[in-house]
Amino acid sequence: MTVQSEKWCDLHCHTNCSDGSDTPEELIQKARQAGLAAVAVTDHDTVEGLEVAVAAGGNLGIEVIEGVELSVFHEPGNFHLLGYLGDWSDPAFMDVLGRVQEARRNRNPKVVEKLKGLGVEISMAELEEMAQGGQVGRPHFARLLVEKGYVSSVHQAFDRYLKKGGPAYVPKSVLKPEEAIRGVRACGGVAVLAHPFSLGHRDLGELRRWVEEWREMGLQGVECYYSEHDPAFTQFLIEMCRSLGLAVTGGSDYHGKAKPHIALGRGRGDLRIPYSCVEEIRERCSG
Ligand code: AMP
Ligand code: FE
Ligand code: FE
Ligand code: ZN
Repeated sequence: MTVQSEKWCDLHCHTNCSDGSDTPEELIQKARQAGLAAVAVTDHDTVEGLEVAVAAGGNLGIEVIEGVELSVFHEPGNFHLLGYLGDWSDPAFMDVLGRVQEARRNRNPKVVEKLKGLGVEISMAELEEMAQGGQVGRPHFARLLVEKGYVSSVHQAFDRYLKKGGPAYVPKSVLKPEEAIRGVRACGGVAVLAHPFSLGHRDLGELRRWVEEWREMGLQGVECYYSEHDPAFTQFLIEMCRSLGLAVTGGSDYHGKAKPHIALGRGRGDLRIPYSCVEEIRERCSG
């Protein structure tokens, strides 16, 4: 009997088109070196890097899944929606994406102002340089604060200033869950809830009720395998997905040097995402 070697993937990765440090090509090269069968590019609120990533995947013989990670308004925690395999040039989706991008652009100068009021002097020009043409996000603020000596680490920058509820925090997303989910579905994409640990649920019952509500709106899957999920939580999510007919997916949330403790495909070291997650997404794709 021959034992089939297992195939692995990573369905949540960032490039320097948002707040990761690798170019799209570098990300795909690293995914191949890591022995992954498939990798999804899921930048925050942008689809900028996808074309280059797909071309690199074709050259290197690795399956690249075109994705995006939308910021969604939710209290008390953070709701990020992953979209996979949509026709991202569809006007209905671009309208939704345009609204988040505008909110993000409006937010950043307000954070600069808040920081100024706290005695921290940074400029939009410095941030844009830090983002190298990519979309400016809080990690760029954090790195700049470190570089200028205001804090000693990215972690401290978030802790002291930038975290949700922190003194320099300004909410960004304008999208309701329903609008984000519909936006992804409208162009044939598959809508998946990212890293449920960040939602700020009081207990698992509340988390399940939220997921059921979003499923009614069109949610199709949940990111069960994730760098910050412990085995018990992962198992809870997988069972919830099975009972609700949702896709089980997974990703590391790789950001390159911007989150050095997270390795591509391996998270904090013990993560493994089975290739079956790719199949679960493809099965639900209507595009
Ligand atoms: P933004 O989308 O601009 O609000 O930035 C959100 C991003 O900041 C997340 O995707 C993470 O990459 C990063 N982030 C959020 N909280 C922290 C934290 N406590 N430490 C480091 N990075 C963080
Ligand atoms: Fe990020
Ligand atoms: Fe996220
Ligand atoms: Zn992410």
